[in-house]
Amino acid sequence: MIDPVPFSFGLLAIGTVQTTLIVIVRYLMASGGFALWTAKRGITAGPKDPERRQRQIRDEVRWSLISAVIYGVPAGAMIAGWRFFGWTAITTDFTLTTALWWAPSILLYLFLHDTWFYWTHRWMHGPKLFKTVHAVHHASKPPTAWAAMSFHPWEALSGALLIPALAFVIPIHWSALGVVLTIATVMGVTNHMGWEMFPASWVNGWFGRHIITASHHEEHHKRYNCNYGLYFRFWDQRCGTDKGLAQFPA
Ligand SMILES: [Zn+2]
Ligand SMILES: [Zn+2]
Repeated sequence: MIDPVPFSFGLLAIGTVQTTLIVIVRYLMASGGFALWTAKRGITAGPKDPERRQRQIRDEVRWSLISAVIYGVPAGAMIAGWRFFGWTAITTDFTLTTALWWAPSILLYLFLHDTWFYWTHRWMHGPKLFKTVHAVHHASKPPTAWAAMSFHPWEALSGALLIPALAFVIPIHWSALGVVLTIATVMGVTNHMGWEMFPASWVNGWFGRHIITASHHEEHHKRYNCNYGLYFRFWDQRCGTDKGLAQFPA
C-alpha cells in the first residue's frame, strides 16, 4: 500500500488535467498508430468517397477529443480518491493473493465492463435515445480507427464512469488495471479499423466465437440492431442479438 498524500485542490486540478492529457495522447497514439498500419496495408477504411471520408474522420477525431476530456475527469477523481484518501480497492503490493487474483480480476473487470456496455448500448438503440445520444457513433459509415471514442458526450459519460467506479469496490492490482485499460483501448480502436487483424482460423474458430473482433463490430455498424457487445459475444449470444461476422473485402 502507498501512503495517501494530503488533499489539496491544486493537486486535484493538476491530477485531473494530467489524466485528461493521458487519455488524449492515448487516443491519438492508438488510433493514429492503427490508422497508419491500415494505410500501410493499402486498405482504405471509412467511406469510399475521399471528401466524405475526410469529413467523417474529422468528425470522429473531434467527438473523440471531447470524449477524452469526459473520460479524463472520472479517472482523475478515482485517482484522487486513491491517492488522497486511500478509498479505492487498487492495490500496489504484489502478494500471493495478488498473484492469484491478477488474471481473474482482469477477466471480471472486462466482463462487467462488457455487461454494462451491452445493456446501455442496447438501451441507446431505442428510438428516443438513438437520435440524441448514439447517432453520433453511427455517423461512422463504415467506421475508421479514429472512431474509437467518437461518442456523444452523454454516451462518453456512461462509458467513462464504469471502470473508475469498479476500482472503488473490486480489488485490483494497478498493473492488472493497466492491462484492462490497454485491452479497452486497443479493442476500441481495432474493432473499428475496417479490417481483420487476426488470422481467419482464429476469427472462425474458438477465439472468434467468444471474443469480439472487427468482423463482429463492423456488422453492428452495418445493421444497427445486432452485435451490441464490446469484448465478448456472451450477451449477444445469450440474448439472440448475435448476427454473425461481417466479411471484409480480401
Ligand atoms: Zn462502434
Ligand atoms: Zn450502436
